[in-house]
Amino acid sequence: MLQWQQIDTVLLDMDGTLLDLYFDNYFWLTHLPNRYAELKQKDVNQVKQQLRQSYQALQGQLKWYCFDHWEETLDIDIMALKYEVEHLIQIRDSVPEFLTALRQANKKVILLTNSHPKGLHLKLNKTEITDYFDAIYSTHEFGYSKESQHLWQAFMQKEGFDPDRTLFVDDSLDVLHSAKTFGIKHLVAVANPDSQQPSRNITEFASIEDYWDLIKDLTNDISPSG
Ligand SMILES: [Mg+2]
Repeated sequence: MLQWQQIDTVLLDMDGTLLDLYFDNYFWLTHLPNRYAELKQKDVNQVKQQLRQSYQALQGQLKWYCFDHWEETLDIDIMALKYEVEHLIQIRDSVPEFLTALRQANKKVILLTNSHPKGLHLKLNKTEITDYFDAIYSTHEFGYSKESQHLWQAFMQKEGFDPDRTLFVDDSLDVLHSAKTFGIKHLVAVANPDSQQPSRNITEFASIEDYWDLIKDLTNDISPSG
């Protein structure tokens, strides 16, 4: 699927790409509305509908990913509610093997997530994947989400990677389109980000359901015979 000899840098999304998106979907669509309705003594179905509208209005914007925004808007301790369901934070199958293979192949490996720094911290603590990366960034430190070209320009200034020799893996098609517009050459979509949802049929990008599809070629490329 990929020409690994032509790739030096690997940029990886976190939620839905390295980790099961079920945690995030469950939190924002079920747990938060339930607990919010409980704490504020509101009707849960109304809360769900209101939240869905608020999410839609901000989708793809950095604010959507910002815990501070939701804490302020809802007057609720988002992190306290996250801890209540933190057992649902799970690494996807074969991710440790993939990250190990990337290190063995001497690729530069960077985590680039729209996750809020507090959420990033919680997930790194929980999954212990920090050591696999050369660098880890939340896009909040740049002030733009991956959906924006401004993010890619700022990130490029910071990391100085060659877009022609970079692979980017993400589960968001909007984000992948944004990376493509910026000029990142090697793009792979995750077809099944949420373990509780059916896999999507993706036509715009190469896609995987399991990292073994990528590991196979990577380990072939670094075998002693060349
Ligand atoms: Mg994602």
